[in-house]
Amino acid sequence: ATGSRPARVAIVGSGPAGFYAAARLLSKHDKATVDMYEKLPVPFGLARYGVAPDHPEVKNCEDKFTEVATSPRFNFVGNVDLGNDLPLSALKPHYDAILFAYGASKDKELGIPGEKATRSVHSARAFVGWYNGLPEHRDLDPDLTGEEAVVIGQGNVALDVARILLSDVEALRSTDIADYALEKLSKSKIKRVRVVGRRGPLQASFTIKEVRELLQLPSVSFDPIAKDVFPPESVINALPRAQKRLMQLLAKGSANDPKTSPKSWSLDFLLSPDSLHWSPIHPYHLTHAKFSRNELDPSDPYNPTSKVTPKYLSSGKPAMVNLPASVFFRSVGYKSLPLPGLEDLGIQFDTQRGVISNDGFGRVKSLSGSGEPRKLPDGSVITHLPGLYCAGWVKRGPTGVIASTMTDAFTTADTIIQDLTSHTSSAGSLLHAPRDSTGLGWDGVKEEAERRGLRPTSWKDWQRIDAVERERGLQKGKVRDKFGRVEDMLQVL
Ligand code: FAD
Repeated sequence: ATGSRPARVAIVGSGPAGFYAAARLLSKHDKATVDMYEKLPVPFGLARYGVAPDHPEVKNCEDKFTEVATSPRFNFVGNVDLGNDLPLSALKPHYDAILFAYGASKDKELGIPGEKATRSVHSARAFVGWYNGLPEHRDLDPDLTGEEAVVIGQGNVALDVARILLSDVEALRSTDIADYALEKLSKSKIKRVRVVGRRGPLQASFTIKEVRELLQLPSVSFDPIAKDVFPPESVINALPRAQKRLMQLLAKGSANDPKTSPKSWSLDFLLSPDSLHWSPIHPYHLTHAKFSRNELDPSDPYNPTSKVTPKYLSSGKPAMVNLPASVFFRSVGYKSLPLPGLEDLGIQFDTQRGVISNDGFGRVKSLSGSGEPRKLPDGSVITHLPGLYCAGWVKRGPTGVIASTMTDAFTTADTIIQDLTSHTSSAGSLLHAPRDSTGLGWDGVKEEAERRGLRPTSWKDWQRIDAVERERGLQKGKVRDKFGRVEDMLQVL
């Protein structure tokens, strides 16, 4: 498509999806160049700001990403919030392809009264961002002065929240947890964390490693799971291996002597949040959360996909229960939003699923129906917009670990390479960028960024910030001491 000049690809987002796609593009297409645009001055997305500080081995992927960035065909453009600071349309004339890998910048809500954020009601996304030093949540200041925490949702993020709340701060001190969070957690009075799910143990989405970590926390006991919600042994023995081992672990954990430690946690099943309640005397003190009880489909209660329905008392009233709560976290999933300007590029966003509509291989679906028809594996036909792609959580939805994000990003990168190659003899660039080699890529966009007074950060700038964070960390006996504010990051440059 691009003759002898490079095939210029813009990647929006520098998380695992962006970096794995860049790695693949640069290694498989020797003329590809990548400009990676990132909202924050620093790279790595949720690898830096989501993955828990006590999971340093998961962050090893950053070494691979750093290696990618050594390529002379790679360029990092940080501190540019695309769609807000700079319109997407400013990119289009300068690239052969644009790949959206901007993740999920919001979280799902419960839609219950009292959910609005206060010092005692938070999304897990905000809390995780807070303890990981994400500038957006630097000032969260969660109220940890009470003893009872309730976390809604039973995925691994909910367990991360529970573990950080219950961990001995000394065990976190040498990690890259934000200093201010460590300080606050050291004064936390939280003694009990309830991790509450709508459905039963077989329907929970946490995995064995995260449950085991919580069960093994020193000085923290596990309150046994009520026998009546737990599947019988005959059902457990017939489960697929991973789920069977998880259930066996929960059964073993439930057999321990409860309440032997100052702190405890529990998994509470079959409860849907109904409302939050504050003290009539101290209106800022959350006292409890009210839940309606659920029951699993009685004809098929041990099917992992079994749905729940509200449980009713013999009086015909819904069965309700109150759980004490001094602080409340919802952890029911992240959510992607359409970037401002996506529509102007003709891109369809599936608001229901919270993803950029795509063909599963990363080709973006056209909003108007104009574009190139393409047959999907299921036989249906979509029209896609040549030159526009997506990868990662904004493509698949906000689920999946870094390994599955990598596989997904590789698929999209292979699609881009295939399209760039198959357009060799046609009209030129997939996005119809001018065929001459001037003013393309970041060189073409830079002027517009400067005109708007932006202060983009380069990879060198990140290396400087990284070095200072590590230096500061060394003095405090920790891996790194992150800057919690964008101004402070820019200050060291
Ligand atoms: P992200 O990592 O979110 O990256 C998106 C990037 O795009 C971000 O850097 C963002 O700042 C940037 N961006 C957003 N908007 C714009 C814009 N307008 N302009 C420019 N840039 C923009 N996986 C594991 O394997 N192990 C774990 O232990 C683990 N723990 C996790 C803990 C939490 C709390 C969460 C939420 C996830 C965890 N995961 C874990 C999953 C893993 O983080 C994801 O699979 C992966 O990060 C998704 O990658 P992504 O690139 O699609 O999105």
